[in-house]
Formats: sequence, C-alpha cells, structure tokens
Amino acid sequence: MSTPDPTTLFTSIVGSAGVSHTDAGPLAQRHMTEVTPASRAECVEIVRAAHRERIALFVRGSGSELRLSEYASPAALLCTTRLDQVIEHAEGDLTFSAEAGLSLNAAQALLRPHGQRLALAPRAPSATLGGIMARAADGWTRKSCGLVRDQILGCEVVLGDGRVVHSGGRVVKNVSGFDLCRLFTGARGAWGVVLSLTLRLRAVPQQRRVSLHAASDLAAAFATAHALNASLPDAEVVRVRVVNAAHGTTYAVLLSLAGPAARVEEAVASADDLAGSATELALAALHDGGTPQCVVEVLPADTAAATRALLAYGAGGVIDADVATGTVEFMAPRAPEWDPTALSALAHELRGLEPLVSFPAHPESLRWQRAEFGAVDAANAALLRRLAQRFDPRGIFEPGLHSWK
Ligand SMILES: Cc1cc2nc3c(=O)[nH]c(=O)nc-3n(C[C@H](O)[C@H](O)[C@H](O)COP(=O)(O)OP(=O)(O)OC[C@H]3O[C@@H](n4cnc5c(N)ncnc54)[C@H](O)[C@@H]3O)c2cc1C
Repeated sequence: MSTPDPTTLFTSIVGSAGVSHTDAGPLAQRHMTEVTPASRAECVEIVRAAHRERIALFVRGSGSELRLSEYASPAALLCTTRLDQVIEHAEGDLTFSAEAGLSLNAAQALLRPHGQRLALAPRAPSATLGGIMARAADGWTRKSCGLVRDQILGCEVVLGDGRVVHSGGRVVKNVSGFDLCRLFTGARGAWGVVLSLTLRLRAVPQQRRVSLHAASDLAAAFATAHALNASLPDAEVVRVRVVNAAHGTTYAVLLSLAGPAARVEEAVASADDLAGSATELALAALHDGGTPQCVVEVLPADTAAATRALLAYGAGGVIDADVATGTVEFMAPRAPEWDPTALSALAHELRGLEPLVSFPAHPESLRWQRAEFGAVDAANAALLRRLAQRFDPRGIFEPGLHSWK
C-alpha cells in the first residue's frame, strides 16, 4: 500500500486553511507540505497520522533556528505558531502556562503590566516558548535566574508514537518523581512536539543599569570581573568583553545590575569604585556582539584560559566571557571557515579545561564529527537511541539531523 500524500492527509485533519507549501521564502528549495494545527488536539492527530503513515516531521516554532535534513520525502513541516493560547496566568502563584507556539515577546508583553516576566532571554526575539525549551536557548538571565530547564515547572508533549505525556505541574512546589521536562529541554524536536508548558515567573526589577568598564588588558579585565562578581553577588551579568578588531584589541567588563532602585544605585557606586567609571549601555548590549559562532562552557575559574584559547586561535570578532556561569562565546557577524587543522588546535588548547563546545550557527554535524569537542560517547549514544526507540519508535521526528538516531 502506498503512503498517502501528506497534503491530502493533513488537510483531512486541519482543513485546507492549515496546509500550505514551502514553495516560497527561505525553505522554497524543499517543497514540503507545511501544516499548521489550530489546536493541541489537531497537533496530536497530525503526529498520530504521521506515525501511522511513516511521514517524517520537522517541527518549527518561529523558525529562527530551524534545521532540515536532506531527508527524502514524504516529509512535512509542522508549525506551532497557531498554538499560541495562554492557558493560565496564576499571578499570585508566580506561574504561567501557555501553548508552545506563543512567542516569548507576546508572553512578556502580557506579563509586563502585572510587573512580572519570564526569566528567558534567547537571541532570537521571535522565539516561541516551545522553541526555547527545545533548544534550551539560554541567555543573559542564566546567572541570576538559572538555566531554561530551571524555569520549566511542567510540560505536555506528544511523542512520536502519538502518546501524550504530562510531566511536572502548574505549581512552584512540584510533585516528586522523574522530571521528564528536563529530558525534553534541549532535545530539539527529536522525540516529540512540546504542546504546552508551565513556567515560573519573576518580578520585573524596579531598576536596571547596564554598563561597560574599560580595562588595560586581558588579565586586568578578568581580575576586575572576578572582583565585581565576588563583591556584587546579585549582579545579573558580569562578563569580560574582548573586541578583536582589525585596528586592535580592546578589553572591558560588561555589568548588569537590577533590583530595587536604592540597591542598584548603591551597587553602581561600588562597581565604579572597583572597576573605574563606566559607559552606560542599553539592555540590548548584552546580546549585541553578533551571532555566536562558538560557545565554550567551562568552570568559572577557567574562563580566562578559554578566552585566551579562542584569542590564540585568531578568531577575530567579539568574545564574551561570563565569569559567573563559565560561558565563553565567540561572536562574529558571519561564520568563519572552521578549517580542520585550526579546529584541532583549538580543541588541543581547550582539552585541559574539559569544556562543552558547541557551534550554534553551524550544522549539528560539526560537533559530532569532531570527537575532540566532546561528541557523544558510545554509551550515551546508545542511551539516546534507546530513548528514541521508546519515544519515537518509527523515527519520524527530525530524521537525518541527529547522528545518534
Ligand atoms: C542570532 C541568533 C543567535 C542564536 N544563538 C543561540 C545560541 O547561542 N544558543 C542557542 O541555543 N540558540 C541560539 N539561537 C537560537 C534561538 O534563540 C533559539 O533556538 C530559539 O529559542 C528557537 O525558537 P524558535 O521558536 O525560533 O524555534 P525554531 O527555530 O523554529 O526551532 C528550533 C528547534 O526547536 C524545535 N522546536 C521548536 N518548537 C518546538 C516544539 N513546540 N516542540 C518540539 N520541538 C520544537 C525545532 O524542531 C528545532 O529543532 C540563536 C538565534 C539567533 C537568531
């Protein structure tokens, strides 16, 4: 029996208004059926039909970091943008439940009048809540509020075989047991579609000051940053910023302070004493170094060494080294040519630091191909494969994008 055409199959579930083709725009070369369910129930039906008929599915939130493989048809793009309902805003309980296709911007706009916010700051302003969870897309909120997975209290996911699983709950003090939300955070769309999630809320700070303090060299910048981090434990961000331009290299400390106005003013004064006078910046400065090309995660004490390794590699662009979280990002407007010899040299430089290295603007395969950058070892790959067999037994999600699948 032949596989039904995805367009016909999905039209029978969502109607013709929910089905189109990727014949225009950036995905035009793929000529895929694009299906946009209007409800979670429709989304579940699409996955069940795809499982039954063995149709590959690529999940798209806002599409800011979407990857497609060269997978042969039949395949379809499942878009979550119409799954954008707020399920519950429990203002007093500091929790927010919404469908996965709601954009972070829209959620923040709804919460702002209540003096509340989600502690998420992905690079893509358009990012959806589901996309942020799927990518574990961390941002500058990491130091003060924790990782993406720490913000998620509960989730609802449709697995590759059509089962719907719920994990966690809608309260801050949650039930005990396995926290599957953590497993799905950062899983991309490899095991299932996130339908909805519950997140914890924070208060919008009364005041925020972002500033840049110049330093004479790398050692001075790191000494100042570590001193600021120790003396201002509430600071939202303490980073060393190295701008490696053609006309020379500059070093500075980037600082963000937030909280009650009086406390921020006091902290600003003590930062100026410690780090010298500062240039005031807009919040956007926390992300304005460019597109991250290489992210190295090490122990906070090793951030200077990791920065030196990236500089020695002659990377150019901007390096931001967060001395509180140990995240060192090399950013540049365009992806450099990562030639194999230079990459091996960088891996050699970093090896003693036992880093986690990723190349966000590059295909996943770059990391997997290069064992020296911590490709998944055989035991972990086997575990991932067993999980994939349980969650997505026919491998309908993102085929060809995950080497362990
Ligand atoms: C300039 C720039 C820099 C960036 N730097 C980084 C970085 O350093 N680190 C980082 O992690 N990200 C980075 N990102 C990515 C981006 O911020 C996040 O990936 C974003 O949160 C994705 O949201 P989205 O809605 O656009 O998802 P999409 O781009 O549409 O999808 C991203 C991935 O998530 C999956 N997905 C989306 N929605 C769901 C869902 N409901 N259920 C299951 N899977 C889903 C997709 O299958 C895909 O694998 C960067 C983006 C930009 C534009």
